[in-house]
Amino acid sequence: TCGICVEKCPFDAIEIINLPQELQDEPVHRYGENAFSLYGLPIPIEGQVTGILGPNGIGKSTAVKILAGELTPNLGQHEEPPGWDAVLDAYRGTELQDYIREVRDGEVSVARKPQYVDQIPKQFDGNTRELLEHTDERGALDELVERLSISPVMDQGIDELSGGELQRVAIAACLARDADFYFLDEITPYLDIGQRVTVARIVRELAEEGDRSMLVVEHDLAILDLLCDNLHVAYGEPGAYGVITSPKSVRNGINEYLAGYLDNENMRIRPEAIGFEQHAPRTVSRADSLVEYPAMEKSYGEDAFSLAVERGTIREEEVLGIVGPNGIGKSTFAKLVAGKLAPDEGEFETDLEVAYKPQYIEIDQPMRVDVFLSSITDDFGSSHWNTEIAKPLQLSRIMEQNLVDLSGGERQRVAIAACLSKDADLFLLDEPSAHLDVEQRVLATRAIRRYAETQDATVMVIDHDIYMMDLLADRLLVFDGEPAHHGHASQPQGMREGMNEFLANLDVTFRRDERTGRPRINKPDSQLDRQQKKQGEYYYAP
Ligand code: ADP
Ligand code: ADP
Ligand code: MG
Repeated sequence: TCGICVEKCPFDAIEIINLPQELQDEPVHRYGENAFSLYGLPIPIEGQVTGILGPNGIGKSTAVKILAGELTPNLGQHEEPPGWDAVLDAYRGTELQDYIREVRDGEVSVARKPQYVDQIPKQFDGNTRELLEHTDERGALDELVERLSISPVMDQGIDELSGGELQRVAIAACLARDADFYFLDEITPYLDIGQRVTVARIVRELAEEGDRSMLVVEHDLAILDLLCDNLHVAYGEPGAYGVITSPKSVRNGINEYLAGYLDNENMRIRPEAIGFEQHAPRTVSRADSLVEYPAMEKSYGEDAFSLAVERGTIREEEVLGIVGPNGIGKSTFAKLVAGKLAPDEGEFETDLEVAYKPQYIEIDQPMRVDVFLSSITDDFGSSHWNTEIAKPLQLSRIMEQNLVDLSGGERQRVAIAACLSKDADLFLLDEPSAHLDVEQRVLATRAIRRYAETQDATVMVIDHDIYMMDLLADRLLVFDGEPAHHGHASQPQGMREGMNEFLANLDVTFRRDERTGRPRINKPDSQLDRQQKKQGEYYYAP
């Protein structure tokens, strides 16, 4: 047992090697008998950005409700909640004492960016301008609209915005407020890397203005690293209990998370470490071509978006990464390769069997997950399929659920499984990281990588998470141009050249963490940033 329960664990909990100190104490909050329990709280600090790194369902929103004064923690005594004074007593002498006193006295104002921006159109009827106009408490809205490139959609209905536009509007609405405590539950979904970096800089600047505290949940580790001053790792058993650690430095927090071992807590949270290649990117030895595609052009009509693709080769058994800003034609290219769209220029006939996972996953028919997946492959349920697909994608717990009832992350995992389960020559995954939490991203990356290696499969992956790309891809196909107007794809190239071309367009360089080799975004105009730009080494710097 993990030590919480005297008898057999009711939660089917993960194996806990060492009992953490937190679990020997009472939780901060327990929703009820055998219900979710939260141990530990993040500590908001004025003038700083505090991050939380951990899976969904681990108690992050619960913690924020407490810090916002909306939920009075019961210190584990759900039958007779002791109230705020007892909570204050419990935190006397800790870093949270002053903050909790203010919450008890109703003195903390909170602005919040919800996790699922897709829900906003269901709650708000109107256009962007109307949504934003009541939020301008600091007189900063115009600048936010400008920097987040929201102007073109100011008069558009909220229900007509793309995911990326909705995300930026929601972030602007939160940051325009005048609050003591800002909580942003994920800032990167649907945003490209340039937009992610912009949002991170805006959040940092607001914190640095002085007495505001920012708390951010984020699953893109490169952005989390850029964004935060300190970091809490959250671990436990999603849905059963969650532990929020004491604050760590961002560097240590991420490194320990990747290592799968928390130093101070003396706690293993994952069996193996996640490693990055230190100096040279992966090189592909095999060079047989799976398909050679010609130079192609495709436009959606006069004055509409047009795409020009240079001729290129997709190699057998490689993972080809595809990167570029939003609205640049990546999905259009995927559809050309999948044969779902015909080019205007360039003959491209292929008898390749392509398995395609689209960016936006629509599920229209009600059907159980297991029924759906067994309709795709005869392999369903075999030990091989279970090892390669079901286990890394954590499908066992949702097998009996209905497709229409799944959360965004669950739906994504089922869609990845469905794509990889097909009998195909080429597997094409459009934004597999969307909606996945950090743990699921790692597992999905591994599953895809392993699948390519063990099945001799050729895989194309479009994604904005640069760590995922680094871990996954053998070569890169880079898109540039002017989003929504015209796009251009050069030939697939090696990781080093590809990252250099892609990041030069973005003006962002990465250095390597000394201890782990993990890439970290350089401060703009820092010595390393200038030096690497001069050398033309944007990512795999020596
Ligand atoms: P996260 O934000 O990390 O995804 P939450 O704090 O939203 O996690 O939820 C943690 C767990 O607590 C989940 O299993 C959720 O189902 C459960 N939970 C949330 N609110 C309640 C509630 N009011 N009553 C009982 N359980 C709840
Ligand atoms: P990416 O995947 O790089 O974000 P897409 O290939 O989805 O880009 O889209 C490129 C541009 O083409 C966008 O401006 C998009 O609005 C536009 N577009 C995509 N599909 C259509 C279509 N069927 N008709 C008209 N415009 C489209
Ligand atoms: Mg796309």
